[in-house]
Formats: sequence, structure tokens, C-alpha cells
Amino acid sequence: ATPMALMVGTGRGAALGILIKGPEVLESTRRVDTVVLDKTGTITEGRMSLVDVHPVTGEDAAEVLRLAGALEDASEHPVARAITAAARGRSDRPLSAVEEFANDEGLGVHGTVGGHAVLVGRPRLLEDWSVDVPADLAAVKSDAEARGHTVVAVAWDGEARGLLSVADTVKEGSADAVRGLRALGLTPVLLTGDAEPAARAVASEVGIDPGRVIAEVMPADKDEVIARLQEEGRVVAMIGDGVNDAAALARADLGLAMGTGTDVAIEASDLTLVRGDLRVGVDAIRLSRRTLATIK
Ligand code: ADP
Ligand code: MG
Repeated sequence: ATPMALMVGTGRGAALGILIKGPEVLESTRRVDTVVLDKTGTITEGRMSLVDVHPVTGEDAAEVLRLAGALEDASEHPVARAITAAARGRSDRPLSAVEEFANDEGLGVHGTVGGHAVLVGRPRLLEDWSVDVPADLAAVKSDAEARGHTVVAVAWDGEARGLLSVADTVKEGSADAVRGLRALGLTPVLLTGDAEPAARAVASEVGIDPGRVIAEVMPADKDEVIARLQEEGRVVAMIGDGVNDAAALARADLGLAMGTGTDVAIEASDLTLVRGDLRVGVDAIRLSRRTLATIK
């Protein structure tokens, strides 16, 4: 391939809303056969909203939401933003200040609010702190997850206090993009830190095979999933937006970042989809193939 011809391809990319790190990038897209898609913020809007509050019997729903929302004010996670916004919206007094805060990447947050030691995150986070999740909440959890919602547990002072369910919406073009990938003969895979049922609900909405859903992957392990696929002989493109996707984006044969995502993801990637439209990612792969076909 002549550098000149590749540059032409690069210019066309910019017009489509694709930023390309260097002309050599187009070459690595040629052999891609597998496209790994992050869920939150990539397939979905990443703007979650609170659906429901399920307090443990004897607890006050408003208080569960207030304490969770107060603690989550210190987190940037889409789940956290949904909880804090709902807590503010439903309360007539300001939320309590966070006195101590720690983020457990891919699990949730913990800290001190109003003198209480508060945990908010995946039910697994509570297990890690030896807090039992009451049996009556298990049904609530599986019900919400079956509908594609993400379930967040709230505990303070060593006891579970309730569950919150939050929901995200699939982006308008995501199903189209998955169809486009298949039309190019590529295998779409969904990779997420979220729970399996929620991940499957989103996969079925956009047309990804249930057998191609890799869920509950901790942020530090996302890049190992890419490595495993590469060991199987696959040439992998990864599309993501989050801090938790950066290592996987760098590891992939081709990394594509959502322009609406974090700077770390963009820096780790070869291509940026400026408007965060997955369909443009499919265009990018199609374009590079055409460009290369012209060159040969
Ligand atoms: P994804 O791969 O979907 O972008 P993450 O790895 O960031 O997800 O998070 C995995 C899961 O951990 C989330 O679906 C959520 O249940 C939980 N989680 C992460 N951060 C928080 C938080 N600040 N508050 C509550 N739950 C959280
Ligand atoms: Mg994400």
C-alpha cells in the first residue's frame, strides 16, 4: 500500500466523523474478524436513570435512596449519576456530605455519610464485606435483571437496606450497526462488567448471540478477554468508551473509541468515532477494506 493512497482513505474518514491516529491504522483493520463491543456507553447511551427502589422490610425507601445518592455524588460512574440525580430530585433537603469515599472499580463505592458506613454497588460488593443480602430481595433482583435493568445493592452499618434498579437505553443505531458487522462477515461479541442477565437482555435487543456475551468481567480483566480471543486465532477489533476499556482497546488489533467517551479510552485507541455512533465504526471497517482494495 502506498502511503499516499492510505492518506486519501484517512481524509475520507475525517469527513465521516472518524479520526484516525495514522494511515498505517487502516491496514490493521483488514484482517479483523471479531468485533468486541463494550455495553455501557457504547451499545447503550450510558445515561442511566433510576427505575425503582426496593427497601428491605422495615427500611424507608426515601432514606435508602438519599444515603446511596449522597455517597454516589463522589463517583463519575453512569450508575452513580443516575442514583444521585434521583436522590436529589426526590428530596427536599440537600444530600448529606460524603466524609470518606473509596471506589471499588467494577463493583461499586463505599464510604462514610452522615456517620454511617455506606456500601453501594453490585450485590457482590456486599458479599465482599460479609453483608448478607436478604432472601426476599433475590426475587426482586432476578426480576429486574431479566428486564435488562442493572441492580445495585445498598447497605450501611453492616446491614443490607435495599436494592435500586437502574436502566439504560440502547442507542438508536446499535442494532443497525450489529447487522452491518454481520454483513461484513464479522462476529460481534458483547463484553461488560454488568451482570449476565442484563447483558443478555441488551444483546438480544441488538442481535448479538447469547453465546457471544461475556459478562461480569472486572475492569482489569477486559484486556485478558481480548488476549484470549487472539490466542484462539481471532483478529480482534474492540469498541469502547470507558476508563475500564482502555487496556482492552490498546490490546486489540484495532481499538475504536467513542468520541463521547473518556480521554483515556481515546488515547488508547487507533480510531475515534467522533459522534459516538457505532454505525460509523462499521463504516470505518468497510472504508478501510475498500481503500485497501483500491490500492492493491
Ligand atoms: P461496564 O463494563 O458495563 O461499563 P463497569 O465495569 O464500569 O461496567 O461496572 C460493572 C458493574 O459494577 C456495573 O454494572 C454496576 O453494577 C457496578 N458498579 C460500578 N461502579 C458503580 C458505582 N459507582 N455504583 C454502583 N454500582 C457500580
Ligand atoms: Mg462503557
